[in-house]
Amino acid sequence: MKPRALVVEDDRATAELLRESLTAEGFGVVIAAGADDALQKLAEATPALILLDIGLPGFSGLHLCRHIKQDRRTARVPVVMVTSLGAELDKVRGLDAGADDYIVKPFSAREFRARIRALMRRAVQGGEPEDVLEFKDIILNNSTRTVQVSGKEVALQPKEFQLLALLLNSRGRVLTRQVILEAVWGPTSIATNHTINVCVANLRKKLGPPGRFISPVTGLGYRLLQE
Ligand code: CA
Repeated sequence: MKPRALVVEDDRATAELLRESLTAEGFGVVIAAGADDALQKLAEATPALILLDIGLPGFSGLHLCRHIKQDRRTARVPVVMVTSLGAELDKVRGLDAGADDYIVKPFSAREFRARIRALMRRAVQGGEPEDVLEFKDIILNNSTRTVQVSGKEVALQPKEFQLLALLLNSRGRVLTRQVILEAVWGPTSIATNHTINVCVANLRKKLGPPGRFISPVTGLGYRLLQE
């Protein structure tokens, strides 16, 4: 059976474009024109992927995204937000609400399909946090709290260690400053953007060559590049 993608989009033309690309990627596509319709379709069956327009009439796409990520049944389903050109704030809010990736309208079908393939590969690899995380020449061991790069142990500060673990667990995904802040410094922390930047800079330096895979995403945060 084909995996199912749920497209939540009130604009018919965009919904059809998404349907074409997703069909080409082997998905069966279901379209919901609004949040109520989407909730009903989610109750009927859990999709493999959700495309979510942020600018929905009524109940906002952000609320829906939070709902999806808080419901145990759907929490692990990758959500891709669809935002309008230049809506930086939408991107930040959507990623803060738990979206896994975003695309900006108007989008190229080719880029969209590549993003979807990458996302689905990550979804397959994902699972419970592992004790040992490996990436390029980096080996992070959660039980011994140690990190090795090319076989040599690297001494990291606790926050640097947590940040690296977060990045390794979210590879390819954009992590907003808010998400990083809450995961590494805690939800009530008063750490600033500067604190995050300094921590990232120190971590990159200590990791040496593989540190370059930690890449800033303008206006949003950071992402661990996969290539
Ligand atoms: Ca819309």
